[in-house]
Parts: sequence; structure tokens; C-alpha cells
Amino acid sequence: MTDLHRSGPSTRAVHAGEGPRGVHDPVVNPIVLSTTFMSEPDGDGPVLYQRYGNAPNHVLVEARLAALEGAEDAVVVGSGMAAMSLAVISVVSAGDHVVATEAIYGGTRGLLEKELPRFGIETTFVDLSSPSWTDAFRPNTKLLIGESPSNPLLRVLDLRPIADEAHARGAVMIVDSTFASPVNARPLEHGVDLVMHSATKYLAGHSDVTAGVIAGSRERVNAVRDRAKVWGPALDPHAVWLLERGMKTLALRMERHNANGIAVAAWAETQPGIARVHYPGLASHPDHAVAKQVLDGFGGMVGLELAGGGEAAARFVRALKVAKLAPSLGGVETLISEPRYTSHAGMSPERRAANGIRDGFIRVSLGIEDATDIIADFEQALAAANVGVEHEASAAD
Ligand SMILES: *Cc1c(COP(=O)(O)O)cnc(C)c1O
Repeated sequence: MTDLHRSGPSTRAVHAGEGPRGVHDPVVNPIVLSTTFMSEPDGDGPVLYQRYGNAPNHVLVEARLAALEGAEDAVVVGSGMAAMSLAVISVVSAGDHVVATEAIYGGTRGLLEKELPRFGIETTFVDLSSPSWTDAFRPNTKLLIGESPSNPLLRVLDLRPIADEAHARGAVMIVDSTFASPVNARPLEHGVDLVMHSATKYLAGHSDVTAGVIAGSRERVNAVRDRAKVWGPALDPHAVWLLERGMKTLALRMERHNANGIAVAAWAETQPGIARVHYPGLASHPDHAVAKQVLDGFGGMVGLELAGGGEAAARFVRALKVAKLAPSLGGVETLISEPRYTSHAGMSPERRAANGIRDGFIRVSLGIEDATDIIADFEQALAAANVGVEHEASAAD
């Protein structure tokens, strides 16, 4: 294990957390379905139980996740939202205040805006890229929540100074690092207290598992684990096993996601039918300099603003042959979504536009297909989108 902690992410993704193996032991970690486990007769030692998240499949995948994040410990639960909810309630109590990034996942926004007020916990949303965000702190602020890269503009936060500000004011910082995966970013290295992932996305990587993870110090993760035992969002051992299987190729997949991101973003920037490309690997992105410093890869998420607006986007998504129109992200297949119908459907078009998401915005989660095939697919879909634009222009003449 000591050696593994010095090894690279690809080796960790395959081996971290494995116990010693001998002759005739299975190479692949088996699924243990037993809900309960034999106890010590004198009551010593932990009680093992699937809901407690301490059964063999959980223990292995948690050790692997901790190794990938550079964390002391990690806990895996039934969804990304379960991970975020438990992390939040492990830190705040009635009467506390939360500061959270404005550019936050819709489910987390719902938790903060709709659920926590019922327990006497208020949240102030801020733009963490603007220096005045610290004005939102109150004497009872106990928690700061960041998300990086953000959805769908891929804003990248320089976490170290932000975490320092939070700590100076006695607050704990949680970062949703789903879009980066531990291969592209490790927020704990930048002073963050807890890192959260929707493991449904890159960690599992095949769009066939719903899971979530929280990693950090042993003490903070145990506080989350204690809540998980009581609130009960345990991950089924089959799903844990699928997550472990998916994670073996995490570093390999991220290499391709990163390469496809750069290839598609660079191609898109040359297209007259695309007004603007949002990708932290492009010099034109507002956070490019930060991204170069804090990320080990720019990722597979790209935002495209079609020049023809909402109508062009409607034609573009219908013309796609390789990419699939579906929400979610981080899988091996390229998925496209329009934030106006998915993550930002709850906002008015005006409010969306004020947040930089005009109609015609297409969010792309690049899979691991060949970049040339994805680009060819987008090229023909863009042509179909623009034929419509010309047609409309002449019809209006
Ligand atoms: C999907 C997602 C979540 C929620 O994860 P689930 O596994 O769907 O519960 C949280 N944050 C981000 C950034 C996500 O993309």
C-alpha cells in the first residue's frame, strides 16, 4: 500500500485497496452479497453490515477512491446527491449559515434552497470568481460549497485562496469535483476539507451505475459515514462492484476524454456556425490560466454556443448520428444536452442569458470515441443546423 501511494493514478485505479492475494485466489475482487457478517463472540470489533458501508466491496472501493484523491478516507453512497446531502449535514446544524457558489448543480441548489431552510439553515449564493464573495460570510457561516469545473460554462476555481478565506472565518469547504474526476483535479491538495463526486459520471464511467463519494480526513469522512448509517442511502454491493470495475479504467478514459475535449474545442473554435466555445483548455476561456495551474487535464466537457441560437440547436441535436441527446455526463459515449431543457430549465430565458447560457447553448460530454468521428458527426449536424438558418433568412427576405 505504501508503494501504491507513490504510484501513478493508472496503477492506483487498478490496484489501490486490494488485500494480499495468494495462489488460487480470484484476480477479480468478488461481489459479496451477504447483508450481514459473523461477529466476534466477545462483541469486539466493528459490526459489519451492508448499510453501514463497511462490507468488503465498499471497503475496497473506498480505499481506492481515497488513494486517487490523496485522502485519508472516503465513503461511497447511493448517489451523488446522497453524498452531497450527507456531507452538508455532517457539517451544519440548525441556525448555521452556508455560502455556496452560484454555479452549482441543480440538485444541490434544491437541497440548499428547499430542504435546509426547513431545518433552520440558510444559504447565500455567490460568484466565487468575484473578490466580493467573502461579503456573504456571517458570524454563523459554517460551510462553503464550491463546484469546479462548473456546469455548463466550465468555470475553474483557484481553490487554495478560497479555502484559506473559508478557514480564516471558521468555515469548512466542500467541493463538488464531479466534472474533473480525481485524475484531472484533487481539491484536497488545495486545502479543501471534503471533496464530493457524483460517481455516476466519470468515476463509474459507463452510464450504468448511480453512486456518490465523499473523501477527506478520516475524522470528516467518519462524520459523513455516521450520517450514512442513520439516513440509510447505502450503495448496493452489485453497484459498488460495477463502480470498482469502471474505476479500473478511469485514468485511461480520462486521457481520452481530455484529448477529445481539446480536439473538439479547437475544431469548434474554427467554425463560423459556432459563436462561442467554452472549454478551459482554450486560451479564450476566462479561467484558462487558473486551469493550467490547478488541473492535470482540461476534461471532456465542452460548451458550444451555436450562432443560429435556439432554432439551430434544435436542428443540430436532431441531426446527430454518433452523439446521443441525453442528460448526464462522464460516460464512454458522447452525450449532448441543452441546458435550457435540462440543468437550467427552471430559469427564465432572461436569467439564463444573464448567467451566460443563451438559447443555442449545447453542452457536450465527450465520450471515448475517436475524435475524428465525433467531429465528423458535429460537422454534418452543424451543416444541417445552418441549412435551416439560410433557409429561414431567404424565407424572411
Ligand atoms: C450528476 C451530478 C450530481 C448528482 O449526482 P447523482 O449521482 O445524479 O446523484 C452532482 N453534481 C454534479 C456536478 C453532477 O454532475
